[in-house]
Amino acid sequence: MICHSPLQSAFIDTFSLRLYSFFYAFILPFLLFLKTRVPLLCYTPGMSRNAVYAALVLRVKPSGEANRDAWFLTAEEGVIRATVFGGPKSKLRAYAAPFNQGTLWIYHNPLRDSRKVSDFDVKNWRPGLRELYERTMAADAVAETVLASHGGGGNWSRALDLAGKTLDALEKGDEKTCPRTLVHFLWNWADVLGIRPDLGVCASCACEAPRDGVLWYNGQDGNLYCPSCAKGAGFAVGPGARLWLGHVQNLDPAGLERISLDRASLVQAGALAAAVLTEALGKRLPTWDNVFDS
Ligand SMILES: [Zn+2]
Repeated sequence: MICHSPLQSAFIDTFSLRLYSFFYAFILPFLLFLKTRVPLLCYTPGMSRNAVYAALVLRVKPSGEANRDAWFLTAEEGVIRATVFGGPKSKLRAYAAPFNQGTLWIYHNPLRDSRKVSDFDVKNWRPGLRELYERTMAADAVAETVLASHGGGGNWSRALDLAGKTLDALEKGDEKTCPRTLVHFLWNWADVLGIRPDLGVCASCACEAPRDGVLWYNGQDGNLYCPSCAKGAGFAVGPGARLWLGHVQNLDPAGLERISLDRASLVQAGALAAAVLTEALGKRLPTWDNVFDS
């Protein structure tokens, strides 16, 4: 135990008092000053930010009297929404139309957290998408799928690449290849999201499916099962659909017209791709059925 003489105690008390006074008089105000200043030094009020993106227009909607809201899939930040200012004769308004793709400049106001399109250099206009009903329907389904899954969950540059190549293929597609191209997109989109099931093996007993064998898809757990493990639950995916999906999944969608697919297998492949995505998105998109039912 340490004993202090009365003189020593008085000195310690005075010293503590001075220390406290010094802290409250100088140190604390200085710390408070730093606390308010440091963020301001990094983040000046009114500071704005211009960013450049590789972008694809997914959807455009009117906003107020003359402006529009546009949703883009970007390679850098996934889906972003920005306002396009200007009336019917504005150049930007014509550029920011669905399925146009190019280099996008966005002005971001961090205080309001608002974004506006400051320029858009369109490299790919895809006018052919509006020339055939089946193309427009399939392109809408692609855009709605991207929006519903928030741009692909982080793998944005691959998502943009897949969506762009799919739209390029749709622009030249006929009424037969458009549904096929959409199924190819949905199947690969499931892979972008990391939820695509294995087409070759049973998820329960791990037996390899014979080339001409049927697997059953169970929407409850998102897996494919052999007939003996499935016990009739879910729906059948026959060899035609399985082999086609396995064959085309790594192909550029532009090559799909050369690989034929019978109607029954197309329906099964579409049902499988749509069911896998329905499981992930928590809903089935009506735009898929617009294409499959046409
Ligand atoms: Zn099995």
